[in-house]
Amino acid sequence: MTQTTVPNRAWGTKLAPSADAITTPSIRQLEAISRATLNDDVFGEDQTTSLFERQMAEVCGREAGAFVMTGTMANQLAIGALCQHAPHGIRQDASAHVVNFEAGGLAHLSGATVQPVRPSNGLYLTVEDVAKMANVPAVSGTDTWTRWEICPTKVVSLENTAHGNVIPLSELRAIKEWASRRGVSVHIDGARIWHAVASGRAGTLAEIASCTDAMTLSFAKGVGAPIGAMVVGSAEVIRRVKRLRQSIGGGVRKTGVLAAAAREAVLENFGPGDTDARGVFGATHGMAETVTRMWTDRGGKLVRPTETNIVWLDLAGIGVTSRTLNDMGMRSGILIAAPRIVLHHQICTKALVSLEQVFDDLLVRRQFGPAVGPGDLGVQSKGCVQSML
Ligand SMILES: *Cc1c(COP(=O)(O)O)cnc(C)c1O
Repeated sequence: MTQTTVPNRAWGTKLAPSADAITTPSIRQLEAISRATLNDDVFGEDQTTSLFERQMAEVCGREAGAFVMTGTMANQLAIGALCQHAPHGIRQDASAHVVNFEAGGLAHLSGATVQPVRPSNGLYLTVEDVAKMANVPAVSGTDTWTRWEICPTKVVSLENTAHGNVIPLSELRAIKEWASRRGVSVHIDGARIWHAVASGRAGTLAEIASCTDAMTLSFAKGVGAPIGAMVVGSAEVIRRVKRLRQSIGGGVRKTGVLAAAAREAVLENFGPGDTDARGVFGATHGMAETVTRMWTDRGGKLVRPTETNIVWLDLAGIGVTSRTLNDMGMRSGILIAAPRIVLHHQICTKALVSLEQVFDDLLVRRQFGPAVGPGDLGVQSKGCVQSML
């Protein structure tokens, strides 16, 4: 068989522009795979997987964890386990991944209906947003539902970070307390939880997880493993997650090879504890600040504040479409999933130099130079091509 080499571009491909999901595994992750146990995880016999589940649960201060293939699978199983398939409502951010990008899974996997709400602060859900119009009794145990047309809210589902913005720990605690008093469960989609922790304003993994009944973690974003996600929670919730996982064909046998790489990715990029110990995320956030300054120093505005690894450019304000910016990036050898720019630890300085020139073309030359259409904007540099490993 001939081996084909696919160029890895630091900023993604045309089909997968969501930049932090496109990191490539390190040599150490591949070496960890070679040391993995090769037993059957459907029977709970694979030591590498069980160890990783135990360690992540411990770091998150929870009883148990279930290793699954994707963040989507983790979210769907977590919410499914909390719902137990009764006709219930899920209160969540209208722009959440679970609502928009999980192929309607809640409808058939949880038998639940989404009760979407827009964050009133424009960034993340607060306890007031959650409480407003949620269908819950005033206090748990006083449930005297006589209005059968109303669908009770069973789960509050939150994203942290929410599109790059951190939910402060105090807000999470308030939501958890509100929910507990009403018999409502809390789920956090922690696909980007690493960034929340590294921001220093969200608490540790264990503090965040203590505000949930089930939290999902993704290893394929942020820490950069090839495959994998996890649900952490009580032993009872994880037992239900594993049953559901099997029911959708998610019981994978030799998961050791995947768990080994995911575990190594966590260790090398986040660290062994419940807080960002490696500085890798801090550096990525620094990169996001640099991109923010490159944009705002040239007069650009943001639609959300930059707090972690995502920079939200206000393109509408300068009359430019995402497509225009993406096309300009393509011509400079960088892929930009405008209007947001997502940073990760494998983006090199050269890509940022190319991005700066694109900003120059857009904000400086466009304003002060001769009138040019997007098709005429010059591109001076080629962005870096990520090396294979
Ligand atoms: C990427 C992402 C997911 C899904 O993860 P996959 O592994 O791609 O299924 C879920 N939630 C959020 C917030 C994400 O960004």
